Amino acid sequence: MTKKIILRSLLGLLLIACADKSNESSKLNIAKEIKGSSAEVLNSNTSDVFYHYSIWWAFVNKIFEGDIDAKELKTKGDMALGSYNFLDGELIMLDGVLYQAKEDGTVVIPNDDEKIAYANAAFFDSEKEFSLKNVANYDELRDLINDELPSKNFFYAFKIHGNFKQITCGGLHKQDKPFEKGLDVLIPSRPLFERENFSGTMVGFYCPEFIGNINVAGYHLHFISDDGKFAGHVMEFEAEDLLVQLDQMHEYQFVLPKTEDYSHVGFEKEFQYKKK
Ligand SMILES: [Zn+2]
Repeated sequence: MTKKIILRSLLGLLLIACADKSNESSKLNIAKEIKGSSAEVLNSNTSDVFYHYSIWWAFVNKIFEGDIDAKELKTKGDMALGSYNFLDGELIMLDGVLYQAKEDGTVVIPNDDEKIAYANAAFFDSEKEFSLKNVANYDELRDLINDELPSKNFFYAFKIHGNFKQITCGGLHKQDKPFEKGLDVLIPSRPLFERENFSGTMVGFYCPEFIGNINVAGYHLHFISDDGKFAGHVMEFEAEDLLVQLDQMHEYQFVLPKTEDYSHVGFEKEFQYKKK
């Protein structure tokens, strides 16, 4: 293990020495400090269960009411993303604190009885971490993380903290019953919020391609600023000094809504984010 890390470090230095001067940002990013295993299957000290409430496909098809609440979700993990009932805000949980990013851009701490329509959660246990000096955008972050993922056949939870030169987060417009539009319509017309020069954490998950419509395939990240005042679904950003921590998940737990609407949903519409 130590030999591997030393070899990787030497290779990194060699690559830096050979790198084209004009490629400043990727040169800096090669100088990553990697802690943790490069083995494909990572060991862990705590539970490695990916908790999933409702399914993405149902959520896309207007199942915007769930039957679990904030108090219950906090028993399923200390980090999470998702959405509240009636799409009343994006859901972000970091270090056991649950946030609700409302459609007007404000962020509140929800009451324990606030109902949840859709969520992914886990008890986070960092199994591998590395830092990235400069990340120009979301695509570059995906590429850099893909290079470090021990295997793309497992699920992962992420905590990514750093300084954001710019970030754009998406919200959702609150819906009233009867729900008319699915996420295939609501996501492309979602409200967007921007902020510059501040620090915060991206919280999220990676699902392998085989997940299909059960969940978001690839990366799904939500954001909460260090001051707790800015949050949402991560759309685009430019960041520096990112610390990426990941937790490989080997078990997947489904909980389906025990609701009348869910029992009748037809799954007619499909929606996946294009970038995976
Ligand atoms: Zn989201």
